[in-house]
Amino acid sequence: MTSGAGESRDWPATTRYNLSGAPGELGLVQDFLNTIEEGSVAPPDLLATLPAAQEWVDEVRGLWSSLDDACWGRDLPPLTERDRRRLVAIRRRMFRGLFPTAAEDGGLAEPQAHAGVRLTLSQGEVSAEPTGRGWAQFESALLLICYRARLAGHLRRLKTCKSHECDVVFYDRSPNNSAVWHDVRVCGNRANVRAHRARHPGRAAVT
Ligand SMILES: [Zn+2]
Repeated sequence: MTSGAGESRDWPATTRYNLSGAPGELGLVQDFLNTIEEGSVAPPDLLATLPAAQEWVDEVRGLWSSLDDACWGRDLPPLTERDRRRLVAIRRRMFRGLFPTAAEDGGLAEPQAHAGVRLTLSQGEVSAEPTGRGWAQFESALLLICYRARLAGHLRRLKTCKSHECDVVFYDRSPNNSAVWHDVRVCGNRANVRAHRARHPGRAAVT
């Protein structure tokens, strides 16, 4: 059985932003969203090319498998260029679904993220598994992870940075779930400098 909690791993896309991952399998959702190229730090988009996307998949497959002995990620087929484009679309849908106010791209015509899940009752246990094949099953797995995280109360701690130039996804470990920047020193300082300039036009900013 998967636990929604647990220690966090060194997810490859998330660690690029000097962040520790969300606990347990929620770290996979976070890492998938963090494959983006982020405006200020600007490492490459890990899904931009087929070799880079395959490398990311290979890395997270191992981490994901280590979290869950009923892991569907183990059977993911090798990526094709079509799959890669599909992953980019899934990423966009997931981001918009999780952070509707941050995703102001006006793409209303695009379908919502959706999942097929099969529930099984056996020996007093109900279990859920994502249905579909290949990368459709991957999308189902991501949504199932979000659902389990919501039940466990963790999903509300998964946030996107408040900066308009930054879509990095972080896991808020503050006691009252009040963090707004993916990194206070990067995006928080930038916002403070801007606010200072707005209050004191013509004066040098204090950083
Ligand atoms: Zn940020």
